Amino acid sequence: MRAPPGLITDPDIILGYLSDASNTHGRAEALLVPSGDQEVAAALAWAQAEGLPVTITARRTGTTGAAVPEGGLLLSTERLSAVHAVDDVGGGVLLGEHQDRLAAEGLHFPPDPTSRHECSVGGAIVCNASGARSFRYGPTRRWIQWVDVVLADGQLLERVDRSHPLPAGWPSPGWAEPPVKTAAGYAPAHNLLDLLIGSEGTLGVVTRAGLVVRPAPAGVLSLLAFFPDLETTLGFVEQARAHAERARGRDGVVGPLNPRAIEYYDENALEMVRARVPHVPAAATDALFIEIEHEGEPPLELWWAALVEAGALADHTIVAEDEQGRRRLEAVRHAVPAGTNERVVANGMPKIGTDFAVPDAALAEMMAAYRAVRLPKLCFGHIGDNHLHLNLLPRDPAELAAARLVYRSLAERAVALGGTVSAEHGIGKLKRALLAHQLGESELASMRALKRAADPAWILGRGTLFGAPGGPAV
Ligand SMILES: Cc1cc2nc3c(=O)[nH]c(=O)nc-3n(C[C@H](O)[C@H](O)[C@H](O)COP(=O)(O)OP(=O)(O)OC[C@H]3O[C@@H](n4cnc5c(N)ncnc54)[C@H](O)[C@@H]3O)c2cc1C
Repeated sequence: MRAPPGLITDPDIILGYLSDASNTHGRAEALLVPSGDQEVAAALAWAQAEGLPVTITARRTGTTGAAVPEGGLLLSTERLSAVHAVDDVGGGVLLGEHQDRLAAEGLHFPPDPTSRHECSVGGAIVCNASGARSFRYGPTRRWIQWVDVVLADGQLLERVDRSHPLPAGWPSPGWAEPPVKTAAGYAPAHNLLDLLIGSEGTLGVVTRAGLVVRPAPAGVLSLLAFFPDLETTLGFVEQARAHAERARGRDGVVGPLNPRAIEYYDENALEMVRARVPHVPAAATDALFIEIEHEGEPPLELWWAALVEAGALADHTIVAEDEQGRRRLEAVRHAVPAGTNERVVANGMPKIGTDFAVPDAALAEMMAAYRAVRLPKLCFGHIGDNHLHLNLLPRDPAELAAARLVYRSLAERAVALGGTVSAEHGIGKLKRALLAHQLGESELASMRALKRAADPAWILGRGTLFGAPGGPAV
């Protein structure tokens, strides 16, 4: 077979595609930037005939090395960027750009990874990305109606939706998922769409996607509420969760106490906020950022009463009811990742960040385990989903080694508590051992069997999720 036209072999061009946000670096011999699904199909058929490994690369915001190639061909989705309709876009379209387009028309596509202005729709789909609002809206999965996909053998399947069975010869999933938000390994799905969502570039190239788009909420109330201790904070989270569950129970009817996001900041994160804004009360040890969609008047009084009743430092709550106020609050929240990055640069050491989630009943125990860590750290994230990012900030090689051990033992704790080693960032190449630990031998073997049936030559996303045949098993 002839090589596809447009193959780039210039190492200087390829260099720009060899790493992602994990800061790991790979190698590739060639790069292809197809502009349509027929070109993708021809490229994969050629790679299949040549036995050439193919790594799909989009915007490289992934934090796990999934888009980092271990040799072979890089297939970039950047030109799959056509917008066919508000709910029908190419896999390479920038997620945030499309959301802005929708917002201008009074529409809303809920998945909101923090990286949405840098990442692609296809990347968000195959990573089943989520973000703060997944508390109310769930991860990306729920918001995808169909995809066009090119499988590893070059076969193009159009409009793959939830009625599309797994292709003949692909085994049914023989594994289960923990009952938490999870992005660890393949979903135990019996239809092709749900299997592709979260498959991290190992089963096919998503060239086009049908989105579930809904009307934008009429108004959003945002609160940054401060608490005198962790116990009070956790009590309030439980209460907010109960309100949300009651609202969901009524066929999704949204009550005024049903938040779309509940985000947590520990005292070290608050220190970073204090350094930038004057409004953080001295008595605060913990904070929650809460977002509530509403139709009529903002339900401020109800939330105020709930905060007072829970024992929060309610008088100090920062409230944003309009776009300007929300931007001010955003700036306060941004102080945490910005301050963390400054610390990482000053330390000259990588940070080690967790992405674990646990069931509701295990949240307090997991938080206690995070608190007990005796290394420089801060903790923030999606507490509504029991999904916190504990950031360990080592200052020297000894602390880095200790942080890696702590990370592993916390991952094991999350699994022992019925949780997941990755709630949103995925497994990629860096967390294969954790996936193996979470699944156990037999479930891992069944997941690998599915990959082998879908891609016998193991050309797609080699090294992601599991080691390829002939290499290390995990
Ligand atoms: C600052 C920052 C904040 C982040 N915040 C969040 C967050 O809040 N929530 C969250 O879930 N994640 C978050 N992430 C992780 C990351 O942004 C998401 O996983 C994102 O969805 C990856 O999209 P991408 O286009 O950059 O894909 P890439 O990083 O290029 O690729 C990721 C994986 O998807 C595969 N892939 C990409 N496009 C396709 C396609 N069209 N078809 C098949 N496979 C494909 C690649 O092969 C690779 O395996 C964050 C990352 C950063 C750097």
